[in-house]
Amino acid sequence: MVKASDFLVAIDDGHGPQTAGKRTPYIPSLGRSIRENEFNEPVANKFEAALKRCGIRTMQTSPGDYDMTLKTRTDRANASKANLLVSIHFNAMGYTFAYSRAEGFSVHIQPTDKSNPNSGSLRFAKLAIAELAKGTKQVNRGVVGQNLHMTRETHMPAALVECGFMDDPEEALLMSNPSFQSEVAEELAAAVCKYFRIAYVPVKVPEAKPVEKPKEEVKVAEKKTNEPSNWAQTTVKKAVEFGITDGSRLHDPVTREEAIVLAMRAAGHVPKLK
Ligand SMILES: [Zn+2]
Repeated sequence: MVKASDFLVAIDDGHGPQTAGKRTPYIPSLGRSIRENEFNEPVANKFEAALKRCGIRTMQTSPGDYDMTLKTRTDRANASKANLLVSIHFNAMGYTFAYSRAEGFSVHIQPTDKSNPNSGSLRFAKLAIAELAKGTKQVNRGVVGQNLHMTRETHMPAALVECGFMDDPEEALLMSNPSFQSEVAEELAAAVCKYFRIAYVPVKVPEAKPVEKPKEEVKVAEKKTNEPSNWAQTTVKKAVEFGITDGSRLHDPVTREEAIVLAMRAAGHVPKLK
C-alpha cells in the first residue's frame, strides 16, 4: 500500500525575480510589467502547501528571493532524490503584446520522454494537462516535447508547466490573480496525486453553519386531573361518602400499605374517614 509520505516532489519556481527578460510587456492599466516570478513563486508556494496537505513531502529547488542558476536547481533536485520534478512557468513568444498570436497552457517534457509510452514524465504531463483543462478556460496546447535544461538534467520524471503567455494581454493579467494562482496550484497537486495513485485532499472550505443540535425532548408532565374515569365515577363517589377515601390522587398507583389501609377501613376494622 503506497502512502503519500513515500513521495518527494521537487518544486521549481522557474526563474528568480531578477532574471533578465522574464516579464510581460508594459501593461498600461497597471502602469508596469509583471515579472514571471510574480506568478511562478506564489504558485510554487501554493503548490507546495497543497502537496503537504495531501501528505506528500516536498522540496523547493530555489527557495528564497535570489536568482539561482538552472544547474543549481537541477543539482539540488537530484541530490534530494525527489520522485518527480515540476517546474512552474509562464510562457512568452516575444516582448510585446502587438505581435503575439500565442495563448494557452502546455506541459513540456523531453522529446525522448514524449515518444516513450513508459515514461513517467509523459504520464505526469498527460495528467497535468487533463487537470489544467478543467480550470480557467484557456487554449490547451497539450504535451510538448522540448529539450530543456530542467527536464534534461534531472534524474527523475520531470515536467515544465507553462500556464499561459505573458505577451497575451488577457493571460498576462491572470498571472497576478491569486485565484488563478491557487487554481493552477491545486490542479497540479491533483495531477501529482493521480500520478502517485494517492488520494487528493481538497482544500477545507469554511464549514457551513453547523446543523442545529436537536433540542432535548422536554417531557411535559402529563396533565393530572383528579376526575374519576367514567366507569369508576359512582363507586368513587360512594367510597368518599362512606369515608373509605378522601377522593384525592385518583390516578396515582397504590402501594401495599395504602391497599391494606383501604381494605381495613372498608371492612370496618379501623375508623372510616368521617
Ligand atoms: Zn519561464
